[in-house]
Amino acid sequence: MGKVFLIGAGPGDPELLTLKAVRALRSSHVVMIDDLVDRRCLKHAHPEARIIEVGKRGGCKSTPQAFIEKLMIQYAKAGNTVARLKGGDPFVFGRGGEEMQALLAAGIDVEVIPGITSGIAVPAILGIPVTHRDFARGVTFVTGHTGDGVELDWAALAGTGTTLVIYMGLRRLPQIAMCLMEAGMKPETPACAIENGTLKNQREVISTLRELAKDVLSKKIKSPAIVVIGAVVALSLPANKEKQQQRAA
Ligand code: SAH
Repeated sequence: MGKVFLIGAGPGDPELLTLKAVRALRSSHVVMIDDLVDRRCLKHAHPEARIIEVGKRGGCKSTPQAFIEKLMIQYAKAGNTVARLKGGDPFVFGRGGEEMQALLAAGIDVEVIPGITSGIAVPAILGIPVTHRDFARGVTFVTGHTGDGVELDWAALAGTGTTLVIYMGLRRLPQIAMCLMEAGMKPETPACAIENGTLKNQREVISTLRELAKDVLSKKIKSPAIVVIGAVVALSLPANKEKQQQRAA
């Protein structure tokens, strides 16, 4: 009987893989990689490992979850060590929890290797601390994409005073911003969207709750992107550079 490593590959930049992830990759016979994971991570795989690409991003036809789980079980039962490589952290909006349950139900040994989640790392790269003693005593992670139609309680979220980090939040950003403002969140609240964070092609738009949806459209910010709403966004490195330039002028 083999085993499965459920591995978080980090937010994008392959240097943000953990040492433990690299070691697990090296020792695996089969690597099943999500399309959000940078292909440069595969240089750590064993040269003879079988590489299987699974999962497509929002909109496209994706490898059905049940099929991915069946494949992992099959390979592990045949005696292989399987590295299941997922973007960010495997248990943050990544269906890693479901995969672990399926593997355990099939009697397969599972080891989880946490990864750096994009909701923390991508703001951090821009100099946005998701918590800060003076601005936010907490952070809330939510998904903007509710496939089953169950709506989050945006009004309750608006009242927490914590930084709001939204994964998969671009498509419904206009409605989300509206709900938050109707619930009393100030329209001037700093807000930003960051595309392809930690990678060379990273792009961002720093704005306010009122303007962000419009700015995302005009700057053509695309998925994968993280949306951050809260006072901490004002601390970003680009915002501070701008202030310095204004002072100097
Ligand atoms: N498990 C992953 C999240 C998977 S859901 C994690 O912990 O990060 C996919 C969503 O994550 C994307 O739609 C986007 O909102 C976010 N995301 C992942 N990588 C990103 C990146 N490099 N830049 C911006 N957002 C990213």
